[in-house]
Amino acid sequence: MSLLSVDEARSRILSHFETLGTETLPLSKCARRVLATDVAAQNDLPSFDNSAMDGFAVIASDLADAAPASPRTLKVVADIPAGTNPDVTIAPGQAARIMTGAPMPKGADAVIPVEETDFQERAPGTPAPKHVNIFKTLETGAYVRGRGTDVQNGQPVLKTGHKLRPQDLGLLAMLGVANVPVYRRPRVALLSSGDELVPVDAPLRPGKIRDSNTYTLSALLEGAEVEVLNLGIAADRRESVEELLGKAAAQNVDIILSSAGVSVGAFDFIKDVVEAQGELTFWRVNMRPGKPLAFGKFKDIPFIGLPGNPVSAFVGFEVFVRPTLEKLSGLETVSRPRVRVRLAESLSSDGRESYLRASVHEENGILSAHLAGHQGSGNLLSIVQANALLIIPAGVKSLAAGKDVDAWLL
Ligand code: AMP
Ligand code: MG
Repeated sequence: MSLLSVDEARSRILSHFETLGTETLPLSKCARRVLATDVAAQNDLPSFDNSAMDGFAVIASDLADAAPASPRTLKVVADIPAGTNPDVTIAPGQAARIMTGAPMPKGADAVIPVEETDFQERAPGTPAPKHVNIFKTLETGAYVRGRGTDVQNGQPVLKTGHKLRPQDLGLLAMLGVANVPVYRRPRVALLSSGDELVPVDAPLRPGKIRDSNTYTLSALLEGAEVEVLNLGIAADRRESVEELLGKAAAQNVDIILSSAGVSVGAFDFIKDVVEAQGELTFWRVNMRPGKPLAFGKFKDIPFIGLPGNPVSAFVGFEVFVRPTLEKLSGLETVSRPRVRVRLAESLSSDGRESYLRASVHEENGILSAHLAGHQGSGNLLSIVQANALLIIPAGVKSLAAGKDVDAWLL
């Protein structure tokens, strides 16, 4: 029987999902959320002409002959701190002391920085001088930040599907966008399965191992801005699997995500239970690691069953779950773009699409990849030592050192 290709499996999964609805949140809650509207500026930035320096607002043509040997003396007629709204008009021969960010007074068309004058008193609280001597000429507009020079009223600044970064929030704040429509965060119910698993803080009796997938998968989900409902560990009994999947379904989540129990083991009940109370769309993919990967519905809720081996679960998350979450979240750009890297050593593959753990470093301007440790799907250290997954296409059995391959940087 020919197995589903990775691409086919992924597009089948994606075809079951639509972007989630939206909600409007206060700006302070919007970091890392995905914008659900295009944003255009509702005002100019800056919204008034203002000074780019601490100095003196002047009329540039007044300083036409100013030079170190023949300074121009101007009468200081006003003092303009930031945050004020000056009503003074500067006439020829006059200046106003002005601070960075303060509005330009009428009449003035340039700012001379305080360093270019004889007024060297810098201590906070120093009053403005009566007169100031200036040693330099100035271009009209020098050190003035003109209204609208940053952003113009009506200009598009951010697009639907953009994940909001700290600097985006700053711009939205400056534009007065206090409440922001964003996509709802996906809600995922997470469970591990297997009689051998115990939580990290429980005693390790013979034959048991600690549940590592719960921690890795929760962190991957949280990193993708998902609300995680952690359901714990299902035992290798039908009733236990039914109970935990039932709990997940009752929470009305967007996805039920499990690991382990989807292979051909005598105690792998998950596929059975999903099939009995929903539908099993497929449960194997032509990839390595991660072949036993199940997809279906449990009581109408999409179900993704990752393999149990920790490396397989990790790779399965990156290959299938991350793109699904990105679609649900409304994200426009993929968070893991493929990059080309050069093999520093030869490698072999078994002809399935393979995701090999590698450590990638820049060497003389190229990204050079070494395999990271043993590639077995139970070897946790290989994903810990890796900072990349090399993507070796199906059908490729060996590659020589010096060849370029696609990779995801982790
Ligand atoms: P299974 O798919 O249930 O046959 O599990 C495959 C392998 O993954 C077995 O060696 C399990 O012990 C291991 N495994 C399953 N779940 C976890 C988990 N949550 N953390 C660590 N290893 C696991
Ligand atoms: Mg098992």
